[in-house]
Amino acid sequence: MKRIFQRLLYLTLAAAILFGASLPLPVAAKPADPAPMEVHFLDVGQGDCTLVTCDGHAMLIDAGDDTKGTAIQNYLKKQKIKSLDYLILTHPDADHIGGAPVIITKFEITKVFVSNFEKDNKTYRKLIQALDDKNLKGTTPAVESRYKLGTAEFTILAPNGTYDTPNDSSIALLLKNGKNSFLFTGDAEATAEMDILANGIDISADVYKVGHHGSRSSTSKKFFKAVNPDYAVISCGEGNSYGHPHAETLNTLRTNGVAVYRTDEDGTIIATADGKTISFNVPASETWKAGEPTGSSAKNNTSDKQTKNNIPATETTAPAPQPESSAPAQSESSTPVPAAPQPQESAPAVAEPAPEPPAPATTELTYVLNVKTKKFHRPTCNSLPTTNRQDSSESRDSIIAQGYVPCKRCNP
Ligand SMILES: [Zn+2]
Ligand SMILES: [Zn+2]
Repeated sequence: MKRIFQRLLYLTLAAAILFGASLPLPVAAKPADPAPMEVHFLDVGQGDCTLVTCDGHAMLIDAGDDTKGTAIQNYLKKQKIKSLDYLILTHPDADHIGGAPVIITKFEITKVFVSNFEKDNKTYRKLIQALDDKNLKGTTPAVESRYKLGTAEFTILAPNGTYDTPNDSSIALLLKNGKNSFLFTGDAEATAEMDILANGIDISADVYKVGHHGSRSSTSKKFFKAVNPDYAVISCGEGNSYGHPHAETLNTLRTNGVAVYRTDEDGTIIATADGKTISFNVPASETWKAGEPTGSSAKNNTSDKQTKNNIPATETTAPAPQPESSAPAQSESSTPVPAAPQPQESAPAVAEPAPEPPAPATTELTYVLNVKTKKFHRPTCNSLPTTNRQDSSESRDSIIAQGYVPCKRCNP
């Protein structure tokens, strides 16, 4: 009898241990390693459409104009996307919401965010009808609210109130995955940009999706300084009638050593952010070519352009416009050391640029400094500064000791 009792006790103990082991342990809430996030800046001509995927989740920010709905649908299908966690329509202009009814009809969508600016036109009514038909309702997210997308997370930065124009009413958001960050501001112009700054939220980002297709009415100096990006993406149509991107915006990007990617030149651009590093499927643009406003009401070409990822990068016909030295008087100590020829092969799809051999420790040029942004580059980097440049023959350590940080592009 005692033996049976003992056995029972052992069994109970064993069960308790087993059961206990399978209980969810109070593991310290260590954030999961970031899953790779992909940000696809779709070539939708003059307009915006960005697809973000992370860990089996997907979100679409804007949907091009009404000629692009089906092309976007096909693109999402090719990416094996069946549903969207979020559809964010930054503001009700046709080049951002026109294609949305197709997407709303064809995909399951969990949450729809819209601007608080309403329009009374056919394009807008079509959008509301499509939402109604799917029993969806677009809501305007509150500033500072946060949402998850797989291991990524985004914070709403705008609209900060109501505005007179749809552009300034754009939803803006900062998307983060691990250490990588992307800023989207729709077509927000200077007024709305100032209001974003006034919130005091840290909006610094690795990648800046340039506001309003690179228009001079956005990317105001103070705002740009707060973003301080390494990369910029401009979504605009080839030969668009607005003259986007404007020279002023390109100059701001260029003088600050930002690597620029453009859908009018490269077609669809894909950035992959693994939480630590960011890579692009195409090389950065080197044309610095501003658009030319035609002033006519000529509709831009609506035919779906093929992705042109193999554009020759050396299109150095016209000298790039020099900045109108609006920058504070900084000595432009450019010793005429010719930069080493830059690698021009078209990058393989979504691959890190091959690491370059370390520069030899001689008295030759080892690094190129930007005395303003305090970044340093390999001489072969694709985004060398054109102003505030200083060539250095010092060691990496001594440059870092002077407060310089390595460029995230060439990883010197
Ligand atoms: Zn727009
Ligand atoms: Zn707009």
